[in-house]
Amino acid sequence: MPTDATHDPSLTSWVTPANDPASDFPIQNLPYCRFRKPADDKARAGVRIGDEILDITAAFAIESVAAVMALPGAARVDLRRRISGLLSGKAKPAPELLTPVRDAEILLPCEIGDYTDFFASLPHAMNVGSLFRPDRPLQPNYKWVPVAYHGRASSIVLSGTPVRRPWGQIAEIREGPPVFSPSRRLDYEVELGAFLGPGNQLGEPIPVAEALDHVVGVCLLNDWSARDIQTWEYQPLGPFLAKSFATSISPWVVTIEALVPFRRAPEARPASDPQPLPYLRDANDVSFDITLEVWLRTPGLEQPAPVSRARFASLYWTLAQMVAHHTSNGCPIRPGDLIGSGTVSGPEKQNRGCLLEMTLGGAEPLVLPSGETRTFLDDGDEVILRGWCAAPGYRRIGLGECRGQIVSARPDR
Ligand code: MN
Repeated sequence: MPTDATHDPSLTSWVTPANDPASDFPIQNLPYCRFRKPADDKARAGVRIGDEILDITAAFAIESVAAVMALPGAARVDLRRRISGLLSGKAKPAPELLTPVRDAEILLPCEIGDYTDFFASLPHAMNVGSLFRPDRPLQPNYKWVPVAYHGRASSIVLSGTPVRRPWGQIAEIREGPPVFSPSRRLDYEVELGAFLGPGNQLGEPIPVAEALDHVVGVCLLNDWSARDIQTWEYQPLGPFLAKSFATSISPWVVTIEALVPFRRAPEARPASDPQPLPYLRDANDVSFDITLEVWLRTPGLEQPAPVSRARFASLYWTLAQMVAHHTSNGCPIRPGDLIGSGTVSGPEKQNRGCLLEMTLGGAEPLVLPSGETRTFLDDGDEVILRGWCAAPGYRRIGLGECRGQIVSARPDR
């Protein structure tokens, strides 16, 4: 898909706050969301523009965001053009089509059917692998298989939902019996989420060259992780209760169409690495230049402090490869399914996307501007993820924020 008039950086909206260069949501963005208007029970599909939400259920008879996700790619491109035209045109529509974000009840974009989390950042895999298995940090399959685990859709929550510290089995002494206790090594993971659709039939894999047509849009995703529970439970079948207590996402589905100006060739693999198998190989495959940031607000900090920043485009596997691999055995994906990229980390310490990596398993505490230190998260800490895209000749767009504050574990029973 080429860029078109909807990406023109000179395009402005009559919703004038959207034209502020600092806004994440100019008319070039147009992310989908689900919301309720004040004193109205009906959940509606919306598009964020500046500090307002356009009701596309009323304006375009779009029943839900899930219905958008079920559309083929060409119909989604057409819908974007119509929304862009309405918000930039001379004739302003009826004012009741707009609801200020602060007055709206924001909901998860859709009912999420299945959730799968990948592991696509090589620096993350190396850093975490060195902590769990110093002798062989990278598993022999890593450069061949886009590794993932099946997560729980039932515990995906919207940004702003408090995250309760989980209880779980923890083996404090490696050779001793485990205890059942609140996690003491609670961590975040900064990831990109991707909503899928329209998807495939059972038994019909999606070819890698067509896979991006089945990615509707992206959001910020925090894969909360209890490292002490994970250490004890993860072998041989991978993460289970260490991650299924909560996964936070941002509410704005930034479409694959909005990301077109930020496409990049995927990072070249070192010559010594294997080339992907043919079903994962596409000469025209792309990644996206999205910067992901982690900020931390503690009870001792007046302002959130920046913790790390990394580039989504640095991942070892692309979104298309993840979708092609996911469906390569015939497994269907459906509209409203969500995949996570895996923790996005880079080569340097300031690029490490979780505390496990940042503090080397708790050995080197993070020092905050308040003088406080953290190895893992304390009760009351709030993790804030932010994401944005910028490219010469195009309007900057943002993903907004994904927030989650840790609340204390349930009392002992
Ligand atoms: Mn993860």
